[in-house]
Amino acid sequence: MNTHTLRIIATALSILVVANANAHETGPHESEKRLPPKSPLSGAQLAQANASQPKKPQEANTPRAATPFIQFSPLVKTRYDANYLYVESNAMPDHPMMVGITAWQQQVPIPQPYSGDNAWRIPLHPKPAENPLSAKSNFFRGAIALAANGVPIFNPIKNDGRTDTFLAGELDEYGGHGGRADDYHYHIAPLHLQETLGPSLPIAYALDGYPIYGLEEPDGSPVENLDRFNGHVGPDGDYHYHATKDYPYLNGGFHGEVAQRNGQVDPQPRAQGVRPYLRPLRGAAIVGWENPEPQSYSLEYTLNRKSHFINYTILPEGGVRFEFVDSSGKTTTETYDAKPARGNRGDRERQRGGDRNRSRADSEERARRAPDQNDPNRQPWITVHANEMDANFDGALTREELVAEVEKTLAGYDANSDGAIQFAEYEDGGGVRSALGGFVKQHAHELDANNDTSITRQELMALPLRMFQKADANSDGRVTPDEFAQMKSPTRKTEK
Ligand SMILES: [Zn+2]
Ligand SMILES: [Zn+2]
Repeated sequence: MNTHTLRIIATALSILVVANANAHETGPHESEKRLPPKSPLSGAQLAQANASQPKKPQEANTPRAATPFIQFSPLVKTRYDANYLYVESNAMPDHPMMVGITAWQQQVPIPQPYSGDNAWRIPLHPKPAENPLSAKSNFFRGAIALAANGVPIFNPIKNDGRTDTFLAGELDEYGGHGGRADDYHYHIAPLHLQETLGPSLPIAYALDGYPIYGLEEPDGSPVENLDRFNGHVGPDGDYHYHATKDYPYLNGGFHGEVAQRNGQVDPQPRAQGVRPYLRPLRGAAIVGWENPEPQSYSLEYTLNRKSHFINYTILPEGGVRFEFVDSSGKTTTETYDAKPARGNRGDRERQRGGDRNRSRADSEERARRAPDQNDPNRQPWITVHANEMDANFDGALTREELVAEVEKTLAGYDANSDGAIQFAEYEDGGGVRSALGGFVKQHAHELDANNDTSITRQELMALPLRMFQKADANSDGRVTPDEFAQMKSPTRKTEK
């Protein structure tokens, strides 16, 4: 371990001590602890403070929609044309991240290239939709709104269509977390932005172009008569949404026109990761966040009451160097290059082979780092999940039961119903909670036999069926507990 690491750990430890001291002082209830920090000022005070505080200057023609974003300049940049406000950011807000998460997918925030052609786009002339779409049944992928500080806001319900990310403990104290591409985003309204913006400015814009105000009307008065999407026509005659502390938390759908493609608002900027995504780390809780120097971050989490750290640095070329420090101080380092920019097909083709190898190397690396004796991946998948798939509970797994599981999983992931699972269909967390659901995400590259980033029904079926045939020693289409037990023995493994 070098001195730099030690310094990061020391700083992070001191912060933890302070954070704990505060927690004891205030002694928050569990439910309160999960709420974003409250403003010490009343709405009227905020309105006053906000009015007396001169807004950052802007040019005469600048659209009104730009005003909240301009308050976060230079972190956030805006430009516009006749139809759209374009908002550029790297989605790294000026507040601690990840602390408070108790259901963690092991992702961390890294800067995102939301600029140029990949900037956020807010319609300047929103139009009410003929058939407004609800976020209860649509838009489980990607952002539905953009916070004034340039951080995207995703559907509070994740892409299994059920789980409320806030209630599930997946969000930090500010309502955000790192996604599959290590892209930081919120899943609920960023109420903390009210402290900077006051009630008179929206804290976010929905991607249909309508503003999202905080818990009060722009004049500080109480909010009344919200529709099913948390919106209404304000005193100025214009439609707007409001944040709420309960579901839907922000716009619960789109009053305005948006295009939907592959389960998300389209077009929208794409996040860019540098490493294969990771899986949930059960029992981990993130307790510390530090930004000891520009481009360097340290995250502390506890697992089995012991502290672990992830220290990481964004490299000049956009790659990331990670140091994983376990509770005994043992450090593992991983360095990832920036992924090449999209649009160059030749690069992308060449990169694929590399990615594939790196994914394998990375999963081996992870297995080494966390040799969990209870890791279900230490046994054949089919053995571990046989009971879940045994639909008639007769103790044996039939071929039909296995096929039904495959079909169920396919239907769950296949948002655009084309009979295949595009990698994009499970990009942001979640996924299908089933025996095969998690397996698909962890082994996507193996399942995708022709390596086209899409898993067809046949590809999805192939591996489970191969395992089934292997387990079904007497080939009667039924794997009994005895046959599973045989499968586990080393002698059985050397056969075939
Ligand atoms: Zn998310
Ligand atoms: Zn209102």
